[in-house]
Amino acid sequence: MPFKTNDPSKKTWLSVPENSDFPIQNIPFGVFLTRDDIITIGTRIGDKAIDLGALHQLGYFNDIPLTEDIFLQDTLNDFISDGKKTWRLVRNRISEIFDQNNPELRDNEGHQKVVLFGMDEIEMQLPVQIGDYTDFYSSKEHATNVGMMFRDPENALLPNWLHIPVGYHGRSSTIIPSGTPVRRPKGQTIPKDSKQPIFGPSRLVDFELEMAFITTDANVLGEPISIETAEDYIFGLVLFNDWSARDIQKWEYVPLGPFLAKSFASSISAWIVTLDALEPFRVDSPVQEPEPLPYLQYTGKKSFDIALEVAITPENGTATTVCTSNFKYMYWTMAQQLTHHTINGCKVNSGDMMGSGTISGKTPNSYGSMLELSWQGTKPVTLNNGETRTFIQDNDTVTMYGFCEKDGVRIGFGEVSSKLLPVFEPKKK
Ligand code: CA
Repeated sequence: MPFKTNDPSKKTWLSVPENSDFPIQNIPFGVFLTRDDIITIGTRIGDKAIDLGALHQLGYFNDIPLTEDIFLQDTLNDFISDGKKTWRLVRNRISEIFDQNNPELRDNEGHQKVVLFGMDEIEMQLPVQIGDYTDFYSSKEHATNVGMMFRDPENALLPNWLHIPVGYHGRSSTIIPSGTPVRRPKGQTIPKDSKQPIFGPSRLVDFELEMAFITTDANVLGEPISIETAEDYIFGLVLFNDWSARDIQKWEYVPLGPFLAKSFASSISAWIVTLDALEPFRVDSPVQEPEPLPYLQYTGKKSFDIALEVAITPENGTATTVCTSNFKYMYWTMAQQLTHHTINGCKVNSGDMMGSGTISGKTPNSYGSMLELSWQGTKPVTLNNGETRTFIQDNDTVTMYGFCEKDGVRIGFGEVSSKLLPVFEPKKK
């Protein structure tokens, strides 16, 4: 099934603001609550959310074999499970319906009233029921920086790192949509030069600039996915802020890796941008030396040029951009991550989510966490209002942006934005 949605010259009859992340070439998928309190699957063009459930009921998808209620759901899991052929048929059809030369919906105001919503009339929801969440650690610069700080500057990368896309199984229960505030966690930490841990609020709450991909049903138990087919099972990507408590992490992570330092909250952007929409932005990823084992070797371009930014907004202040990075800096590609994940026969389901790991580049302004930007608190970052930050303070809002740009077309992810609230204190009786 070919897809014809990426033509840069394609225009829509909907108005799209300049520099919008959502031109007619994007067509992402999300789930939202409408002004009538109905939950539906939708897409977005410009500043209009489009109710795909309503479009389907009005017969706009009659030529595509879809079940009647495929869009009248509170998650995308069933739609994703239908596979790449269906995703393409639906995106091709949406592209056709909103093409400036197509009068079908353009000249039908009655239908438009049912199908189109302003962004202020809807409430975005978590787009998928995430069954399993895995987080990788695939930026060489990030792994090197953390290794230098937490372990040994001379041997920052552990011996396995250049051979394995290192990862761990995280918790899906604490993945939340953009806009949901996050509580500062409490936990055990170890004071400097002490052998006795203490308990209390984390003092080193951090963001991690990541992207995450969402899979469809990929394999049956016991059967690996090959590197050649891995991308067929990736539905799309979101921005991902993997909130982390560095002081809790430092004490707990040996020998099994992160636990409570990472499971208090992870925030994702609301719209899933498909791999098809990102097709024009493919680029080479960093050269892998030493050569990976044969099951991880691939040909072609399997990375994407996605510009990433992180801003901190203090309470009653304006936003300061603290980091500018790019998805293409990732050493291990998504195809390698998914292939490695299933090489032992591990089953991957529709709606599973895989985080990239913090995406840091080579220059200090491209580091994807406060841990690295402030170099473990030794180099405070100055905000627009003159305040400084080494980690995230109560009531700070952290916002991440991501977009691709080429041939006059900008495909973006919107944002993932969340505010850090003070630690939870139970009410006294
Ligand atoms: Ca992470």
